[in-house]
Amino acid sequence: MSTHDVAQQPARVDPSSWMQAVQGAWQAGGLRATGPRLRVLQTISRYRVPFSAEDLYAALKARRDDRTGRATVYRTLEQLHSAGWLARIHQQGSEAGYVPSFPGHLHHLVCTSCGVVIAFEGCALDELVARLAAQTSFAIESHLLQLYGRCAMCRDC
Ligand SMILES: [Zn+2]
Ligand SMILES: [Zn+2]
Repeated sequence: MSTHDVAQQPARVDPSSWMQAVQGAWQAGGLRATGPRLRVLQTISRYRVPFSAEDLYAALKARRDDRTGRATVYRTLEQLHSAGWLARIHQQGSEAGYVPSFPGHLHHLVCTSCGVVIAFEGCALDELVARLAAQTSFAIESHLLQLYGRCAMCRDC
């Protein structure tokens, strides 16, 4: 799935397409897909809801054969986040978590009941940003937009 596919239809990021895309980007960027890095990717791809760095580290530790260090987990997460492969999801009453995402201008719908996250492209904030910049003389460089509610599965419960 490319960013383009997300634009056509707001959707949950497909874990296997995501893993493939990340590995392709690593290869293109000369970043070696070491065993620990791949285990981090695999573990991320199993989450159905936002996870924290400590969640991920604990999940890796739970596998007795795994010796992925905390520093590798944090560094890999930081790399994925800064390259746009992970989005930070802000949730009321709990720490921010990560979900797989794609580089580009994406935003997210978050279900406050089950935690499912849907990515979408296009947020139509340009007019508001231009008006605020004019009114406040801010050089506005970025923005956050996350929408909260109940997903199609949860809304009728
Ligand atoms: Zn839900
Ligand atoms: Zn936006």
